[in-house]
Amino acid sequence: MHTDFSRYRVEPGTELSLADHDPRDTSAFAGDKDAAKKRCKKLNERLEELQEALYAEGRQRLLVVLQAMDAGGKDGVLRSVFDGVNPQGVRVACFKKPTPPELARDYLWRVHQHVPANGEIAIWNRSHYEDVLVVRVHGLCPEAHWRRRFDHIVNFERMLHDEGTTIVKLFLHIGKDEQRERLQERIDDPKKRWKWNSGDLDERARWNDYMAAFEEAIARTSTAEAPWYVVPGDRNWYRDLVASEILVAALEGLDIRLPAVDPAIQGLRLE
Ligand code: AMP
Ligand code: MG
Repeated sequence: MHTDFSRYRVEPGTELSLADHDPRDTSAFAGDKDAAKKRCKKLNERLEELQEALYAEGRQRLLVVLQAMDAGGKDGVLRSVFDGVNPQGVRVACFKKPTPPELARDYLWRVHQHVPANGEIAIWNRSHYEDVLVVRVHGLCPEAHWRRRFDHIVNFERMLHDEGTTIVKLFLHIGKDEQRERLQERIDDPKKRWKWNSGDLDERARWNDYMAAFEEAIARTSTAEAPWYVVPGDRNWYRDLVASEILVAALEGLDIRLPAVDPAIQGLRLE
């Protein structure tokens, strides 16, 4: 049974208003957390199978881009959705503030090195999109420069697609109140304090600027080859479910074929 999660896909060429996307939405499962968790477990098993087949086939590759505000759930998705998936075929790349060598080059240089190889799934925790998000919000380069990046990004992703990489981009959409609660927990819960970063408050203060930046970046770069999904993020269980459904559907769409069996081993019995 597959639930249709295409409602969360941002159709190419359309405008995006995040205010119209409820971060608390749980509609596909009518708020039924237990049923959703069961479904999620099944999807997780399916993802494991599909990843192994992708690896065995060794011909195709999947790139997953994760973007969100701070505390938006990128780490949570990585942990839950990919739980149990063989780390051998999965590569995670986190993109932080660029280092001097990264800043000395074009902004796609550092991400390009982390594209998946044949048979691999690569997950980008933040990405080249930071170069049209944080860079825009903080005025780190002139508007004319970040604005022309939308076209670069569309072309870069089209090239990856044409050369055999399937791309899925997930924006984990949390509400501002939910972010307050999650950041507060990072202060109150000793186990979460390591995640606290006072810089997050500065970003939070620019919430509306970020929403505008996300809306434009997502709308301008959601293409048939590299679609964006706006995933409701306030309920972790629903977020994980939606992300899992989207990724399983993407892998199932690849028509993965296991390598042909060596005829010499047909019916072979080992002594
Ligand atoms: P975190 O993922 O919470 O550890 O934070 C990483 C930080 O690096 C975030 O504040 C990002 O906005 C920032 N960052 C990532 N990429 C860039 C970039 N290209 N330029 C400036 N800041 C960036
Ligand atoms: Mg952070």
